[in-house]
Amino acid sequence: VLLQAIDVVKHFAVRRRGPHVRAVDGVSLTVHSGETVGLVGETGCGKSTLARCIARLYELSSGRVVFEGRDITRLSRRRLAPVRRNLQMIFQDPYGSLNPRRRVGSIIGDPLAIHDVADGRDRRRRVQELMELVGLNPEHYNRYPAEFSGGQRQRIGVARAVALRPRLIVCDEPVSALDVSIQAQIINLLDDLKDQLGIAYVFISHDLSVVRHVSDRVAVMYLGQIVETAAAEDLYARPRHPYTVALLSATPVADPDLADRRTPILLTGDVPSPVDPPSGCRFHPRCPKARERCRIEAPALESRTPGEDTHLTACHFPVHDPAELMAS
Ligand code: SF4
Ligand code: MG
Repeated sequence: VLLQAIDVVKHFAVRRRGPHVRAVDGVSLTVHSGETVGLVGETGCGKSTLARCIARLYELSSGRVVFEGRDITRLSRRRLAPVRRNLQMIFQDPYGSLNPRRRVGSIIGDPLAIHDVADGRDRRRRVQELMELVGLNPEHYNRYPAEFSGGQRQRIGVARAVALRPRLIVCDEPVSALDVSIQAQIINLLDDLKDQLGIAYVFISHDLSVVRHVSDRVAVMYLGQIVETAAAEDLYARPRHPYTVALLSATPVADPDLADRRTPILLTGDVPSPVDPPSGCRFHPRCPKARERCRIEAPALESRTPGEDTHLTACHFPVHDPAELMAS
């Protein structure tokens, strides 16, 4: 086990003494060495907040984060610095996270400088190796971020994140800002680096088809909580939570046979506010299968099908045949 998030809660005050946004509300997640865990859900479900909690860019309201066997939940900035060598983050907007006035060589070399790994000519050589590793031309060392395309800028972000050979990279929507044709290139790059360097990822996306591509395991989030988690093939082949079934039904598939047989399940209503989430199962106001019990009792995230020990679903009435939902 490389990383364990245990019952992580993150609430934000909207105003001083005002109501709290319950952005992440009791999430547990385990990542093993060399594994990619996909985290999916709609905008506002709390996945970016969870990512920042895991990477300790946010203080947690409660819960714990254990990384490489060490509780890092309350480490000070100074104590956290050595942990950062092995725990990096890649953001959605590669442009926003790159200082436009600095040359890419020095941006990529930052982690090497901060952690005193290399300086002078040695650093330059290592940065150029990194540029080559991520598919950038090392001769562009002295260029500025604006001189690169969107996909190349995300490669710069990736080079910076892998500079110290971390064991885990938390990727928050790393391809969402890119053209579809470029997305595949960045995903393949991350996959190659995983094989070459043995990196594990937490890979966040609102796009189930992107996550399917990269993930060993997938967790689906809704309103600050994980509603379903399973091995990737298992989740896509046998989704059990009505929310996952609905999300998947609206995701384009490459297989035309499958596409023909599917009817998108339309969810009614908007995602409720995380300031005042619904009682019981938070999905009940939008769920085609909701019954009285769902309004009252919050379902635990647990195995709901004999023999499927690693397939956990937070639903009192899990789906066994997606047709049930389409009928209703
Ligand atoms: Fe739907 Fe009830 Fe399951 Fe919630 S617990 S997802 S409301 S069936
Ligand atoms: Mg986000």
